[in-house]
Amino acid sequence: MESKDKSKKAMRKINRKTTSGKSKLIAVRKEKEGTHHCAICSAELLGVQNSGSKSEKIPTRVFAGHLCGKCVRKVVKIASMVKEKLESMDNISLKLKPYVEVMVKKL
Ligand SMILES: [Zn+2]
Repeated sequence: MESKDKSKKAMRKINRKTTSGKSKLIAVRKEKEGTHHCAICSAELLGVQNSGSKSEKIPTRVFAGHLCGKCVRKVVKIASMVKEKLESMDNISLKLKPYVEVMVKKL
């Protein structure tokens, strides 16, 4: 029962008053829920919250809020190997590739 209505619960209707004084449904937003997960290994990201300012929400690390610490370490290692030409970009998995490309530019 709960799983069936989950998609409806995630949607939120917002009533706002218009200039004419009538209330009108202006937007249907998806409500933020659940925890954030790593884009590569889908592990739960610790220290990432939905409320507060941006600096309170995510840790100040490279790819924070997207990748977990283990995957960041993996990306940095591969990026440095690509930079030193010990590894070619063709051998890197498709999930890691965009992050490695960004990291190579930063190094
Ligand atoms: Zn991960």
